[in-house]
Amino acid sequence: MLQFSWPTTGNENRLAELENDLASGKISHAYLFAGPAEVGKFTAAKFFAQLLICENHACGECSDCKLIRANVHPNLTLVGDLWIEGANEDLDLLARKSNFNQTQRMKNPKAKTNTIRIDDLREILSRVNHATASWNVFVIHEIERMNREATNFFLKTLEEPPPRTVFILTTNNLPLLLPTIVSRCRVLNFGNVSPTTIDAQIRTKFPGLSEAERSRVVNFAMGKPIRAEKLAADPTVFREFKEYFEQLKNLVEKPSVSEKLAFAERVSSNNAETQKFLEAFAYFLRGFLLTRAKNPVVNSRYSTKKLVELIRELDSTRELIGHNVNSRLAVENLLLQI
Ligand SMILES: [Zn+2]
Repeated sequence: MLQFSWPTTGNENRLAELENDLASGKISHAYLFAGPAEVGKFTAAKFFAQLLICENHACGECSDCKLIRANVHPNLTLVGDLWIEGANEDLDLLARKSNFNQTQRMKNPKAKTNTIRIDDLREILSRVNHATASWNVFVIHEIERMNREATNFFLKTLEEPPPRTVFILTTNNLPLLLPTIVSRCRVLNFGNVSPTTIDAQIRTKFPGLSEAERSRVVNFAMGKPIRAEKLAADPTVFREFKEYFEQLKNLVEKPSVSEKLAFAERVSSNNAETQKFLEAFAYFLRGFLLTRAKNPVVNSRYSTKKLVELIRELDSTRELIGHNVNSRLAVENLLLQI
């Protein structure tokens, strides 16, 4: 049983570990929340920061809590969405997940990817408040976005962290991180959440949805509570996902190399698109596998062996893109195999 009302769904055992640290006063200098995207790692990190900073453990009423809610608390630095030229320039939207000064990203050479650079890190760390009696908390989302130079700089910071400072880092891709970074963190592994738990979450938060709509949301959420909420809250998100699914189906049923290449070009135009595609493709393959498991003689284009191969290909595509390999080439290579 958890003591605090975490604004997340699932992964209770991990949250209980954090509550234990809090109760025993054994707070680590650095936490690393590892696991799939959209399961609530960033939300949990922000709430843990609030538990540390608010004297009454995230009471929701005090000035600390109010400043944290508005993302303007001087002792809480959030590094979520980054400014990217031509792709992510809406400052109001950025302010929802990041509150450090990003003007260095807008100077030449302007940031064109979501890589965390050394200048970003200097700007982020300049927010350490030495005069405070409270904790300085830095929540850095998806630290696999740091380039080599930034990683080395960050490693030095982790070796000698400023006093009263806690880093709460998240990653969707633990194997990509340097072991020297990981070994300096208390690692908590987050996982996908069961459909039953997500169903209960959606039932509580969106009582207006019909049973059929809810089951559709749970199905498409694939164990990811954050996505489930996005799907339930905004029918356009759902429609987009579904359209994607239809297009993929079309590519499989009428395989034409030129259509595949055109599709690859479109989905690799920016990182958000590419991630959306990889998720939809995972869902698509899973659907095929489930159909086959239920009915092995079903007339499907793919054998189970081929499907498993494609899933492996998808994982390696994800990893290549994580390593900043040209995402268009990686997606083309994947699509040409279907
Ligand atoms: Zn409070």
